[in-house]
Amino acid sequence: GWSLHRNEGVDDLQDEEELGTARPVQIVVADEEEHSFLLQEAALERLLLREEVQDLNVVVVSVAGAFRKGKSFLLDFMLRYMYRQSPDSWVGGEEQPLTGFTWRGGCERETTGILAWSEVFVMEKPDGSKVAVLLMDTQGAFDSQSTIRECATLFALSTMTSSVQVIISRIRSYAFCPQLFTEYGRLAMKEVCEKPFQTLMFLVRDWSYPYEHPYGLEGGRSFLEKRLQVKPNQHEELQNVRKHIRSCFSNICCFLLPHPGLRVATNPHFDGRLKDIDDEFKKELLNLVPALLSPQNLVEKEIGGVKITCRDLVLYFKAYMKIYQGEELPHPKSMLQATAEANNLAAAAIAKDLYYKSMEQICGGDRPYISPSELERHHAELRQSSVWHFRSVKKMGGEEFCRRYQEQLEVELNEAYANFSKHNDGKNIFSAARTPATLFAVMFI
Ligand code: GDP
Ligand code: MG
Repeated sequence: GWSLHRNEGVDDLQDEEELGTARPVQIVVADEEEHSFLLQEAALERLLLREEVQDLNVVVVSVAGAFRKGKSFLLDFMLRYMYRQSPDSWVGGEEQPLTGFTWRGGCERETTGILAWSEVFVMEKPDGSKVAVLLMDTQGAFDSQSTIRECATLFALSTMTSSVQVIISRIRSYAFCPQLFTEYGRLAMKEVCEKPFQTLMFLVRDWSYPYEHPYGLEGGRSFLEKRLQVKPNQHEELQNVRKHIRSCFSNICCFLLPHPGLRVATNPHFDGRLKDIDDEFKKELLNLVPALLSPQNLVEKEIGGVKITCRDLVLYFKAYMKIYQGEELPHPKSMLQATAEANNLAAAAIAKDLYYKSMEQICGGDRPYISPSELERHHAELRQSSVWHFRSVKKMGGEEFCRRYQEQLEVELNEAYANFSKHNDGKNIFSAARTPATLFAVMFI
C-alpha cells in the first residue's frame, strides 16, 4: 500500500528537540561504490511527518554548491534568522560563534548528498497562513573529480524537491544546469502550463566589481541580465540553456556578495563570530537572508501548479529517487513520469485521509455503535466525496494514467470500509455477545 503512516518514529526526535539538539540530518547519501544516491527515508519521514508540520504547505530552501563554498556558513545565518524571526536583531552578537550546519561535531565530513536541518520551522505568512520551512544543504562535488552524472543527479534532485534553489558559484558554472531540466521543464509545461520550478538564485560570492554591478539583488539583476543574454555567436546548446532556464523557473535572481574578509577566508580558528567578518559583507547578509526567508518572501513549493505539503514532499522524494537509481542520467520523460506518479499518490493519500478522518468521527473507536445501513450510507457519501476530491486536484499524467490511481483509491476505500464496519459490529453488544469471550468482557464493563 502507499499510505503514509503518521507519527512513525517521531517520538525519539521530539525528545531530542526538547534537549535542544536540532542538527543537520543526512537525507540523501552518496553510495560511493555504486555511484548512486540513497534516500534516508526514515530520517526524512521523521522531519516531515511530525504532527505540527505534515499538513502545512512546505517551503524548501536549498543551498547548493561544491565543498567549501560557504554553504554551511550561509545556512548558519539562515538558522539564526529562523530561530529569532525578528526583522532586526536576528544576526546575533559580535562575539557569538556560529553554530548549526558548520561547527557542530560529526557533520564536517565532506560527503556529497543532501543534509536537512532536523527542525522544520513553522512560519506565518502575512496573510495569516502557516507554512513549514525546510532548509537543505546540497553538497555536490561540482568539479572535475566527480562524474558529471552524479553532480547533475544531485543538483536535479534538490531542484526538483525545493522551491528556492540557491546556487553558490561563480556565474560561469551555471552551465552545469543541464538540458535535463530544461527538457523536463518543457514537458511539464506542456501538461500544466505552469513553470515547473519556482525560484533560482545565483549567489555570487567574493564579488569584487561593485563599481560595475553593485552588491546585492539590484547589481545581481543587471549582472544576470548580461550573462543570460543570448548572443548569436554562442554555441547553440548554450543558447538553448539560456533560453530555457528562464522558462523553467518562475523567478531567477542573482545576489552579489562581497568578500567576507581575510579572517573568514583564511584563519583556521575562525568560528563565525561577527566581529571577524567585514562590515560590507555583514551589511549585505542583512539583506540576503530576509530576501530568502522573511514571511513575505517565502516561496511555497509547487508541483504542477499546486502547492504541496510536507507529507506530499515525502512522496515526491521517494518517486524522484527511484528514477535516479539507474546507470544513466534520468531521461526527462521519466522525471515527468515520476512527478506524475507522485502527484497522483499525493492526491490519493489526501483523498483517503479525508475519508478516514470523517469516518473516524462517525464510527471511530470512541463512537457508539451505529446501524450497518446507516454506516453504509455514510461510507457511500464519503467515498464519493473522497474520489471527487481526488479528481478535482490538478494532476499530471493524463486522464488514463490518473484513472489507475483512482481505481486503486477506490479499492483502498472499500478495504477501509470493511475494517470500519467490522469494528462497528464489534461494538454491538447484541451481536458480540454471541461469542462467549466477548460476553465475558461485556459483563464486566
Ligand atoms: P561548505 O563546505 O560549502 O559548507 O563551506 P563552509 O561554510 O564550511 O565554508 C568553507 C570556508 O569558506 C570556511 O573557511 C568559511 O569561513 C569560508 N567562507 C564562507 N563564506 C565565504 C565567502 O563568501 N567567501 C570566502 N572567500 N570564504 C567564505
Ligand atoms: Mg558544509
